[in-house]
Amino acid sequence: MNSPLPYLDPALPVSERVADLIGRMTLPEKVGQMLQLSGMDGVDHLVRELHVGSILHTSPERIDEANALVSRTRLGIPLLVAEDCIHGHSFWKGATIYPTQLGMAATWDPELVERVARATAVEVAATGIHWTFSPVLCITRDLRWGRVSETFGEDPFLIGELASAMVRGYQGEGLTDPTAILATAKHFAGYSETQGGRDASEADLSRRKLRSWFLPPFERVAREGCRSFMLGYQSIDGVPITVNDWLLNDVLRGEWGYTGTLVTDWDNVGRMVWEQLVCADYTEAAAKAVRAGNDVVMTTPQFFEGALQAVAEGTLDEADIDAAVRRVLTLKFELGLFENPRHPDPERQAAVVGSAAHAELNLEVARRSLVLLRNDGTLPLGGGFSAGADGRAVAGDDAAPRTVALVGPNVDDPHTQLGDWAGASGQTDWLLPDGHPREMTETVLDGFRAVAPEGWTVTHARGAEILTVGPDPEGEFFPDGQPRPDVVIPAEPDEALIAEAVAAAEAADHVVAVVGDRIELVGESRSTATLELVGGQVALLDALAATGKPLVVVLLSSKPLVLPPSALNAAAVVYAFNPGMRGGRALAELLLGLIEPTGRLPLSFARHAGQQPTYYNQVRGQHGTRYADLTQSPAFAFGEGLSYTTVEYRDLEVLTPVLEAEDTVRARVTLANTGERPALETVQLYVSDTVTSVTWAAKELKGYRQVRLAPGETVTVSLELAAADCTLVDAAGNRVVEPGAFELLVGPSSRDEALLRAGFTIKG
Ligand code: BGC
Repeated sequence: MNSPLPYLDPALPVSERVADLIGRMTLPEKVGQMLQLSGMDGVDHLVRELHVGSILHTSPERIDEANALVSRTRLGIPLLVAEDCIHGHSFWKGATIYPTQLGMAATWDPELVERVARATAVEVAATGIHWTFSPVLCITRDLRWGRVSETFGEDPFLIGELASAMVRGYQGEGLTDPTAILATAKHFAGYSETQGGRDASEADLSRRKLRSWFLPPFERVAREGCRSFMLGYQSIDGVPITVNDWLLNDVLRGEWGYTGTLVTDWDNVGRMVWEQLVCADYTEAAAKAVRAGNDVVMTTPQFFEGALQAVAEGTLDEADIDAAVRRVLTLKFELGLFENPRHPDPERQAAVVGSAAHAELNLEVARRSLVLLRNDGTLPLGGGFSAGADGRAVAGDDAAPRTVALVGPNVDDPHTQLGDWAGASGQTDWLLPDGHPREMTETVLDGFRAVAPEGWTVTHARGAEILTVGPDPEGEFFPDGQPRPDVVIPAEPDEALIAEAVAAAEAADHVVAVVGDRIELVGESRSTATLELVGGQVALLDALAATGKPLVVVLLSSKPLVLPPSALNAAAVVYAFNPGMRGGRALAELLLGLIEPTGRLPLSFARHAGQQPTYYNQVRGQHGTRYADLTQSPAFAFGEGLSYTTVEYRDLEVLTPVLEAEDTVRARVTLANTGERPALETVQLYVSDTVTSVTWAAKELKGYRQVRLAPGETVTVSLELAAADCTLVDAAGNRVVEPGAFELLVGPSSRDEALLRAGFTIKG
């Protein structure tokens, strides 16, 4: 028997296999390995003429077709198949769609987030996809940005905890695990520092500011082995990230020792030519992108000719292409794709995609993602119920049947519940034009019907429209041929709809209004100029409030919105970020008291769009704390969230008042559950550096613990923090601990009034 070619011999080390294979490749084959193109318009040309190394946004049939085509190519180099599986297998019919990343962040629970990512990887891997473009590590700054729902919120520490968990979940036991998929840390780095919330605007960021807030989560996952990084759309100091040598080479590959793959964002290389106008043509753009260290070029087909031309002209060295191809091939060998290309496996899909176990996990994370922001005692409705064996609330024998009126446009909107990057959200409409199967999503209406006590009546009135859409006056397509999203036209308040909702409210014992945004107000190129409830929703809430009935407002939206007084003063307010397929049921359970509210805000809510930015960890030194016409304080602050019970914090004590920089700060605090229901309390630990050599944030989250407390229970919670984590970034851009006095702030949220304080000193 002939011995296999060296690159096909699994007994050889990866580096030898890569070297052998590269030695056999033509220049066009190498350039093709760097290309990742969409399979939307077919895959034949991509594989046979452009020799692509990777495809994305590809239907199940086309994945099979592309794999078959590849197996007939000269060298048979397996494809890397990629997809945006952001909160579940976004565009796979029948997959489990979880709350958005922002919803998951409200759980503050890395272990739960890791389980979601693991379950997602299991579904994704069965469908022949090897790579997800998730998680997003951008920090939310301006709430008007369209991509807030894709983030883990506004705090770098919390983002690092959750992103690291998600990467672990996706990548599983290691790349040779057939259920592992490659995670992507994106969008590296600073993309969320928008101007006025506008998407992909120039990010006005100094290197020090990057190091202070934007880079830490990325550094963490780079060091922990996240296998790919995606570059953002923005430029900094005039340099598009795609060619930012300092960020890509000095910091990421240099300082952090990152050896994984760099993928551009969608047509970043082309954008340098047609949008940012910093390259005269694709030859120049291709040469610059390769020299900067990009490995995979997403959806710039012109890169193929551009790179070949650049080598021919001598502006690009073939050795630079080899370096990128080496990294791409190394990844393919490490995944074991040459031995097992991990093609779609229909049998496994039937077993795992949308499985009952994943639906159960989805319900768990949806429950944990809900945040109770205000409650005058109206919730839980009817004083709360316990669940029977079928999950339905059980009313006591003496309890009279009640009527719940569910009003508002988001009571029964399956798509808003799933949010962006799911089904028909706009990114790959051609894959799932009708969205996910309707029966998989439990809206709030479905949820109430499923769990309200036997004999109760659930009524429903829409009450208001949010919007309609019209064509963008600038034309149907962007210059690169991508469709422009439709333009939103806010709906007018509709007196007939409002009257119907008011009548339903008046006839009911309990009134729940479910308002928010819609998918047309979310996503790339869909930032919003305002944060108000759009359309007839404010008029609806005002009319409901005027009935005098205790009003429960559920805000079901992609991101924090500004609530009108009729909502801010309502009997209760619950925030549900797009809570996923089981979200409506979780909400019904919460409002009926079958479960406890445990979510905490991963970002702050503004009172007015003009307050942007409202993130809690702002740098000290501003004059005053208010505008002439409004306070600066947010409507709801980072970390906030109520329980159905009350938890008191007392007796914060630092046990290590003076310590060395290599020591651990130890403290304890006493928590007492003073109410009658159990709590899952998120004990938050912030640090304030009293005097700093540079201006710095007044406080920063450095840790937290989730503690269960039975009714009436008192516990002492131990807290620990490495003194080495009490850092700032000095004027020279170095992250250092400055010895001296610090304050430990412990409590249920980032609000100063809610925090206990105790000092400690780090010795020089
Ligand atoms: C987005 C990325 C996404 C990519 C592929 C881009 O427009 O910015 O987040 O991963 O498209 O769909």
